[in-house]
Parts: sequence; structure tokens; C-alpha cells
Amino acid sequence: MNILLLGSGGREHALSWKLAQSPACTRLYAAPGNPGIAEEAEIVALDVNDHAVVIAFCEAQEIGLVVIGPEAPLVDGLSDSLRAAGVPVFGPSKAAAQLEGSKGFTKDLCQRAGIPTAGYVRTASLEEARAALTRFSAPYVLKADGLAAGKGVVIAATLAEAEAALADMFGGAFGSAGAEVVIEEFMAGEEASFFALTDGTTIIPFGSAQDHKRVGDGDTGPNTGGMGAYSPAPVLTPELQARVMTEIIEPTVATMRADGVPYVGVLYAGLMLTAEGPKLIEYNARFGDPECQVLMMRLESDLVGIMLACAKGELAGVEAQFRDEAALTVVMAAKGYPGTPEKGGTIALNDAEEGGAKVFHAGTAVKDGALVANGGRVLNVTAMGRNVTEAQRLAYEAVETIDFASGFCRRDIGQKEVAREAA
Ligand code: ATP
Repeated sequence: MNILLLGSGGREHALSWKLAQSPACTRLYAAPGNPGIAEEAEIVALDVNDHAVVIAFCEAQEIGLVVIGPEAPLVDGLSDSLRAAGVPVFGPSKAAAQLEGSKGFTKDLCQRAGIPTAGYVRTASLEEARAALTRFSAPYVLKADGLAAGKGVVIAATLAEAEAALADMFGGAFGSAGAEVVIEEFMAGEEASFFALTDGTTIIPFGSAQDHKRVGDGDTGPNTGGMGAYSPAPVLTPELQARVMTEIIEPTVATMRADGVPYVGVLYAGLMLTAEGPKLIEYNARFGDPECQVLMMRLESDLVGIMLACAKGELAGVEAQFRDEAALTVVMAAKGYPGTPEKGGTIALNDAEEGGAKVFHAGTAVKDGALVANGGRVLNVTAMGRNVTEAQRLAYEAVETIDFASGFCRRDIGQKEVAREAA
């Protein structure tokens, strides 16, 4: 079968690597891709905003499965257009992608379905939001409703800070994403990510992970797209995962189906493990980046078969097997990230993969035959080990072999888990 993968990050390099390993994959195409993906797939120039162009390509190349990596084409309805043209797609419809695209939509669904999450109020004006603040106490959690690339959430320590943040949000700091603001109760606990795949009816658990959002060691500095991750997340014990499935994932999928917006694809639940149990922080309608990289390292099952079963509504009886080992990925970013990253810095991977590590490409490019940095997050150096301690050691050994003078990485990915393993 011929497959088309859309996206250009480390997440998509990991997906392409796994898809290409499948005996069911005849030809793998990718757009826009990156130099790492180019080792696994044939790169094609396709404007994903032009749905007719993507459909025409799928028809001409007899594409049997389209895998959509990032959220933007999902929220833009690309999967609806492809499905209407009869092309099987792994990824939710525009209406179902609201689980990521609108925080208010998800909060309302949680309330109706009795899904544990933070108490909230949706507000559409500054006056309403100010008045609603009195129903909460510090710290205040304020969220622009729409997609804001992870920057639309403010946790304000004081009422004055909260009011200032609300004024910014309604003042257009996040564009149309801030036309509505959700105010939430603060939840205390440890965060973890849980993944499930669904065809709209059947659901299969698809692993857990923990990521590191802040740019600096010890979780300091500004938020980023993610500086590293490991899987599994041992804090999400089998008992807690069973609760997440029955209390959060299953009612979500059932409610979406009952509402006539069946959810097809990966549901990525951001969870807070509170004293009362796991609670939903947010949903993402796609794999996390870099969480996908550690999941793909551990996945034993054939990814093509599983994704196709989701796309065709045939997931019943399908299982996803993961290796018991831990996988850990360290993001090497270009200096300046998450501000303006230095582009063009040369990279030599040397023998980073010699010891079994895998280097996924994110923001790389080839210039005059040399690999250079071409984005904020540049490489995802990923390793497996018997536990997080070993995976961490192997990943950092691989990092040490790479020459990337204009790059940097966090030095403490997985450290909390390493400390727990040592205890
Ligand atoms: P991203 O795109 O980076 O995943 P987002 O903009 O979609 O983020 P959320 O995931 O909802 O926003 O929130 C970002 C972070 O803010 C969470 O990872 C969590 O650390 C914190 N957070 C969000 N909601 C709450 C809450 N109710 N209580 C405590 N912390 C919260």
C-alpha cells in the first residue's frame, strides 16, 4: 500500500521510520518532510492548505492511507476533505479536532460526560471574565480558547496578575484564539501524558510518557514545544491507566460518537495526577512531539496495520504491543530557542547511532551538502534502556558524539524518574 505522511518535525520523522518498517508499506511519501524523513520516504511538494491538490495526489499515487502529523491541517478540516474523496485518513475530522482546537468545547464535553477535570467558566468578554475571577482563588488558571501554540495559558499568582493577563487576552494578545477565555480551578499534582487510538468506537491504549516543557534544567525558563520526554511514565501505574481509560477516554469517545462527531485517530490526554485521582488538563488531537519519538521507539506492533484499522473503523481485535524497556529522547535545539533560533549552524551526527540510539530530525536542512539547523528544535536524540536511568545514559552518550556548536540541550531529561529509580 502507498502511504502519505504530512508534517516536518521529529514526530513525523519517528512516524516515517516506523511506517517504512512495515511490510504493508509499499511506497511512503511525505510532505513537506525534512532531511531525516527523506531517508525513509519520498519527499513531495504539496500545499496541505490546498485540499484539492492533496486529493489529486492521493488519487494519482493510489494512496491507501494518509497520516496527518500536526494539528493545524486537522483543525483546518483536511481529513474531512480526504474522507469525502474516499481516502482513508488517520486523524480526526475538523469537528472532532475541536477537542484540541477549543478548550471550551472540551470542558463542556467533560462536564456533560462527568469526566474528572478542573472546574471552569467560559467567558466571552473582559467584564464577564473579571466578575468570574471572584469564584476562583489563587493561583488563577486562564486559557485563551483557541490554538495558541502552547502559549495561551497563564497561571497567575495574584488577582492583579490575573486581571492583567485577562486584559491582554481580550486585548488581542492571542488573536482570535483569545476571543473567548476559559478560567479554571488550579489542580496540584504531577503531570503525565496518556495516549489512546480509536476508530470512533473501539479504543486501544497506546502508551504513556512524560515530557519537559521548560527550556532550562530544573524546569526553569520559558515554555517550549518540549525539550525531551520518556516513556513509559511509571507514575501512571496500570491501575491509574485503567482509571484513565474508564473515567476519561471511554466517556470522551462515547460522547463524541453519540454527538455525531466520532473521533478517529490518536487522543493524547494531558493529565494531572491529583490526590483525588487522574484529571484531564487538555486533549491534543495528534501525537505529542517529542512524546511520539519515545512511543515509536518502544512500539513493537505494525504501525500501518493499526493506523489503517483506525481509519477504516476496524480497530476491534487489534492490539498494540510495546517493549517493556524505557525510551528517552533529548531535544537538541538551536541557541535562541524558544525565542529566535540561530539558523544555519552546521551539524555533524558522527557515530551518534552506533550504540543503538536513533537521531530523529526536526528542524534540519541540507545546505551545500551539509546538515544545518533550520528551526528551533533541531534533533531528537533517542535511546532505549532497561530503565529510564539506562536510556538517559545512552541518549546523553549519543548527544556527546554530535557536533552542533550552535545548539544546546537540557541536561536533566528524565531526572525525576532517575531519582525515583535510585531510591
Ligand atoms: P500545550 O499546547 O503546551 O500542551 P496548551 O496551551 O494546550 O498547552 P494546557 O495543556 O491546557 O495548554 O496547559 C498548559 C500547562 O499549564 C499544562 O501543561 C499545565 O502545566 C498547566 N495547567 C493547565 N491547566 C491547569 C490547571 N487547571 N491546574 C494546574 N495547572 C494547569
